[in-house]
Amino acid sequence: MEKILPPPTTSPARTEPAPIPFFTQATSFGELWPEIRAHCVDILDRGKFSHGAKVAEFEGALARWTGARHVVGVNSGTDALVLLLRAAGLRPGDEVIVPAYTFIATAGSVVLAGGVPVFADIEEHGYGIDPRSVEAVVTPRSRMVMPVHLFDRLADMRGVHAVARRHGLTVLEDSAEAIGMRLDGTHAGLLGVGGVLSFFPTKTLGAIGDAGALLTDDDAVAETARALRHHGRGGRTLDHFPGIANPTVLSGLNSKMDDIQAAVLLTKLARLDADIVRRDELSARYDDRLRGVPGVYAVPGAVPPHPGGNRVCYVHLIEVRDRDALVAHLAAKGIESETYYPVPMHLQPCFAHLGHAPGDFPRAEAACARALALPLYPDLAEWQVDRVCDEVENFYAGGRR
Ligand SMILES: *Cc1c(COP(=O)(O)O)cnc(C)c1O
Repeated sequence: MEKILPPPTTSPARTEPAPIPFFTQATSFGELWPEIRAHCVDILDRGKFSHGAKVAEFEGALARWTGARHVVGVNSGTDALVLLLRAAGLRPGDEVIVPAYTFIATAGSVVLAGGVPVFADIEEHGYGIDPRSVEAVVTPRSRMVMPVHLFDRLADMRGVHAVARRHGLTVLEDSAEAIGMRLDGTHAGLLGVGGVLSFFPTKTLGAIGDAGALLTDDDAVAETARALRHHGRGGRTLDHFPGIANPTVLSGLNSKMDDIQAAVLLTKLARLDADIVRRDELSARYDDRLRGVPGVYAVPGAVPPHPGGNRVCYVHLIEVRDRDALVAHLAAKGIESETYYPVPMHLQPCFAHLGHAPGDFPRAEAACARALALPLYPDLAEWQVDRVCDEVENFYAGGRR
């Protein structure tokens, strides 16, 4: 006779709390969804997907929001960096000083533009490039310095400019994360010759795929970048033969922004100020809970911005002991976190030929070992922040439940 088994249970014995994703786009449109959807349908009906009117409209709106004289919409933050470096006059073999602690695209774009990245360490407090370290790595081939504004605040731009003036370096900014960050009212990306923004979906202003922009107050840089994003069309000179006028042969890329992305970004731009306020509220709540917790070495709010700078929390980044074990603990509780950034530039395999060794940039290496980004987006709820904090506390209380 067959044994009669109990019916399979479909509901767990006790209900697990809902998982907390690191990022979710599904709900990020909120009340904007009908408008975004209508724009997308309209573009589909018209059938003009690239280089259409929406891109120019978005560029104008973003220029007003940032105060930039020129905004050049492109297909990603990375391509914006490549266009910026080339439009600002990088020549093959020129050295560009960048921080050892950043997203890979900062250094990668230098290589793509034909330059050589040279690394410098970051500040003692905060994650910007350290002007003293910049000065220490300058060589006769140094031509540009490109600070990166990471997570929630600007790099030390006054310090960087002082070094740049002494050595005749052009200052560009990887401001991909820095929408809303300003120094004495001037938007990130406009504190040197030019900068970029990324609209990757996780960024403070996110598209529904890849998109980016170049910001500059310099007419010539903007004109060259506009040509380069479209196969070099409309450029006035041959970049490899300076001075030779030829309207069609600047060797360009195909980096155009899609109209659908422009329409989404234009709609979301209207809510950007509110989104930034919400991010800062949530970030402050994390700080209140996690400041002083044993095992948590650093919380963002503990380090003030450089004088004249504001805080805009794109990433809520803490530094912790036993980072990887904490990541696993959170994951077991259904909480996603991210290690921003796990490997410093000088120890990346693709830059092994530059001859660096562990210990060359100790602050960058320490940040890579300790940094942990917690979920942060405008539609994250207070109770979710509290639950993440509970689990961080549990972990360091030795509970490791
Ligand atoms: C996101 C980001 C980029 C690249 O932007 P994409 O749009 O993803 O190409 C470059 N630099 C930094 C610091 C970034 O955070």
